[in-house]
Amino acid sequence: MFENLSERLSGVFDRLTKQGALSEDDVRTALREVRVALLEADVSLPVARSFIKNVEKKATGAAVTKSITPGQQVVKIVHDELIATLRGEGDPGALKIDNPPAPILMVGLQGSGKTTTTAKLAKRLKEREGKKVLMASLDTNRPAAMEQLAILGMQIGVDTLPIVPGEDPVQIAKRAKTQASLAGYDVYMLDTAGRLHIDAELIAQAAAVRDVANPRETLLVVDGLTGQDAVNVATEFDDKIGVTGVVLTRMDGDGRGGAALSMREITGKPIRFVGLGEKMDAIETFEPERIAGRILG
Ligand code: GDP
Repeated sequence: MFENLSERLSGVFDRLTKQGALSEDDVRTALREVRVALLEADVSLPVARSFIKNVEKKATGAAVTKSITPGQQVVKIVHDELIATLRGEGDPGALKIDNPPAPILMVGLQGSGKTTTTAKLAKRLKEREGKKVLMASLDTNRPAAMEQLAILGMQIGVDTLPIVPGEDPVQIAKRAKTQASLAGYDVYMLDTAGRLHIDAELIAQAAAVRDVANPRETLLVVDGLTGQDAVNVATEFDDKIGVTGVVLTRMDGDGRGGAALSMREITGKPIRFVGLGEKMDAIETFEPERIAGRILG
């Protein structure tokens, strides 16, 4: 499959070190290999370019060029820079859920894994933090999606707001809020409607729900395998709705995780969680070290 970056670089440096100390040109040659590795990992071209520029500044110092293992030194600098870029501020897993009932708005395209992620996070809040959680589906266009959330709720032992036919998403959000207050829930999660593409109606609906719920967290769920598309989706949702974090799903797949780097660089939004499968426990808080390792191969 992919050639490991360290191997790739050691090949380059084997050739170079025979000629004595490394020049800046040698480092540049090595960084071209890094760039290829980033692009193969699905990092977008402008992001790969600006990333390499940063690394180049650090890698042309004497400590690297005079080192007896310049390949490893460059890999370490690349690795550290990746982690620094991927890391957001604070603990990605710490959701703002003080002042009960705390609303969490879940947004994203249809098929991104939004409903699954809603249930996974609800289960986590219940089991790890002892929170009483209410989930509500706002996907009035797709009764099957509403049913799906109810079924997942039963599986994980988390309540869902009863479905009342004919209500619109804003009415459901209001009812969820009232129910959460009256019945002493710590958190209520609003699983908004998804569509295959972002359109004006989707955004208007999510914005209307946001305005009534006043969410403490707005989490955007995106398919981590969709690379640059995931970044475009995030940019648009953040511009129109405002998101407090991103959940990258399908990180159990073959992808190398480059979308994570592009996501951080382009949107500046923290990646909070990664989805690692279909099961209800298959979610973890985002760890930059793991993704960096994957990107570098
Ligand atoms: P929604 O339309 O955005 O609500 O998407 P769903 O939550 O219904 O998920 C669509 C499909 O993706 C379902 O079959 C999920 O089991 C699956 N899925 C969700 N998250 C993950 C993940 O992290 N990894 C894998 N492999 N599948 C996932």
